[in-house]
Amino acid sequence: MSSRIHYTKPSITELEVSYATDAARNGWGERCYEYIGRFEQLFCDHLNVKYAIATSSCTGAMHMGLAALGIGPGDEVILADTNWIASAAPVTYLGAKPVFVDVLPDTWCIDPEKAEAAITPDTKAIIAVHLYGNLCDMDALLAIGERHGIPVVEDAAEAIGSVWHGKRAGSMGAFGVFSFHGTKTMTTGEGGMFVTQDDTLYDKVLTLSNHGRAKGQTKQFWPDMLGYKYKMSNIQAAIGCAQMERIDDLIAAKRRVFEYYYSGLSGLPVLMNPEPDACRNGFWMPTFVVNKEISFNRAALLDSFKSDQIDGRVFFWPLSMLPMFDAKPENEVSYALYDHAINLPSYHELTEVEMDRVIELVKASVSMSKETSDAD
Ligand SMILES: *Cc1c(COP(=O)(O)O)cnc(C)c1O
Repeated sequence: MSSRIHYTKPSITELEVSYATDAARNGWGERCYEYIGRFEQLFCDHLNVKYAIATSSCTGAMHMGLAALGIGPGDEVILADTNWIASAAPVTYLGAKPVFVDVLPDTWCIDPEKAEAAITPDTKAIIAVHLYGNLCDMDALLAIGERHGIPVVEDAAEAIGSVWHGKRAGSMGAFGVFSFHGTKTMTTGEGGMFVTQDDTLYDKVLTLSNHGRAKGQTKQFWPDMLGYKYKMSNIQAAIGCAQMERIDDLIAAKRRVFEYYYSGLSGLPVLMNPEPDACRNGFWMPTFVVNKEISFNRAALLDSFKSDQIDGRVFFWPLSMLPMFDAKPENEVSYALYDHAINLPSYHELTEVEMDRVIELVKASVSMSKETSDAD
């Protein structure tokens, strides 16, 4: 019986264990914020941004960032239809409406032209989500934002390690948010980060993140406004510090996994995560999309994975297919992608022997699909 291949798991060494142990043993009293401060600084240095605020999740970081932009009831926020719900849910928490537009067929990220066409007088932000590590066209989106006076913000939860023309994902928009959920390239168990270069936004989110208590407020237990409670603990931040010290290795490991799959699947009629000129992809999740002319049987491949103890992961459904939103089948690319695509297992320590098992099953499945459609 072959061993189980998980689709992701964190890379944890003695360094993470020793920092977390130290935080649990000594990180209290006047030292209760020590690892948090260090983690935020290491993150700023890595991303080359001015400010970072550690949070309990990426969802919370996005919620506070959108609130700091003043988004509220009646407002609209544009984002891609192909997405995880965590990018859209915070929009609804504020009483605003997510407006789903189609994605580009090669990056699976928001189509800038469709985003611009969806702008109305109620549009208050565009969320650029760098899906699976693939980069949104930030030049086009920032130019659109500039033209219409609308902030572009980045959900870089899946894009640590991705670089757009010398700038790291998450560092280009009005603000950026990250996730350190256990499935992500780097983890703190659960956790997130808000980053920005903007002094005013930073002050607002800092206040919001502390139950509305303003930085200079000297009166104890005196919130100046209603805020939120989305803080990261010192123990989580300790793990984060260790992961940041190893960040280059963590990203390199993801790239190694992608590259092995990429060469193993070459020659098949599939598209994988792109890496355009002057960009670097962090390859959080190696993904392949079967050409749409081919009648790919996604369920059959997932079944064959399952019988060989391999975790497969379905590509994101269009959010507009979910029961809480209005359907938007006119987002043709999003609606054609999801059942022709699969995310492959990609944890850092995955071996070539394990990846070969995955590659063989994908090859068998895709070439079988091809014959089916040739016979049509
Ligand atoms: C994982 C993820 C999130 C949510 O992160 P949490 O830390 O679980 O809140 C948000 N956006 C994207 C694109 C993600 O992949």
